[in-house]
Amino acid sequence: MKLTDLWQSRSKPTLSFELFPARTEKAAANLEKAIDKLAALEPDFVSVTFGAGGSTREGSRELVRKLKQDKGLDVIAYFAGFGLAPSEITDVINAYQTLGVENILVVRGDEPRDENFTPHPESFAYASELMGYIRPRYDLCLGVAGYPESHIDAANQAKDMEFLKLKIENGAEFIITNYFYDNQYFFDYVARCRAAEIEVPIIPGVMPIYSIKMMRMLAGMCGATITERIETGLAALPEDDKDALNNFGIDFATKQCAELIQAGVPGLHIYTMDRSKSTIGLVNRLREKGLL
Ligand SMILES: Cc1cc2nc3c(=O)[nH]c(=O)nc-3n(C[C@H](O)[C@H](O)[C@H](O)COP(=O)(O)OP(=O)(O)OC[C@H]3O[C@@H](n4cnc5c(N)ncnc54)[C@H](O)[C@@H]3O)c2cc1C
Repeated sequence: MKLTDLWQSRSKPTLSFELFPARTEKAAANLEKAIDKLAALEPDFVSVTFGAGGSTREGSRELVRKLKQDKGLDVIAYFAGFGLAPSEITDVINAYQTLGVENILVVRGDEPRDENFTPHPESFAYASELMGYIRPRYDLCLGVAGYPESHIDAANQAKDMEFLKLKIENGAEFIITNYFYDNQYFFDYVARCRAAEIEVPIIPGVMPIYSIKMMRMLAGMCGATITERIETGLAALPEDDKDALNNFGIDFATKQCAELIQAGVPGLHIYTMDRSKSTIGLVNRLREKGLL
């Protein structure tokens, strides 16, 4: 089903989970277990990331296949076009179409760390250009990424919004956002989008806190602000107590999601990091409150 039709037909927010292909055998075994536990929560759809430069091309396709065909889940495939030739772009998307994928999130991606990687001379510099290439060629439901706190490399907030608008004008039908730890960033962002006449559904991304180290590393990479409220909450936890941290993460995400739902978001997209425990805790609490 096209996601835009799903959001139109639903009165409650959709629930979706992001997954990425495993890089090692051990991670693959853990992912397999996580998928089954997450599938038991009956999400509306799951998403599969794509390594920029095509680094996870086969792994991403195989995970999409498994989730769709073996697990019966609806899947949105991400596509990161950084450095890829136009023919490689169509190869990847054709393969997804063959698997029955109807929804693709088009992102630019970042330059791969592999120093042997050379971008194809005809590759596209920005997601808006990828959209301009993909949109006329495919009858797919296409979405793009959005950044409530602006993209980390954006010249400024206004420019970032201008380029987001270009992605929409080039055919994007929905936005999934980067995560944030203060809902006000999201509410202000939606207001700026609407003021810029961007009317598509905007789905907030939510990242439960899994570990302090991971939280700091990822936030540093994508520019998410770790708020005073989180710092104070973490400082009050007993040291090296994983359960206490896990509960704090679930608690924080539950309050955050409850407020987002009450504000009328069309869906919640949970960054699972291929783990299930926190997402299960979060979803169960939201369901107990009748919010999902
Ligand atoms: C929901 C979500 C899913 C993601 N999935 C993946 C994934 O699967 N694989 C992956 O590798 N990465 C993924 N990312 C990360 C993403 O690829 C990076 O954040 C990347 O740096 C930017 O991608 P983009 O599509 O937002 O780029 P763009 O929209 O192209 O923007 C990139 C930067 O360039 C600026 N810009 C845009 N257009 C122009 C222009 N015409 N002129 C000058 N500047 C411009 C923007 O302001 C921004 O700073 C995801 C991010 C999100 C939020």
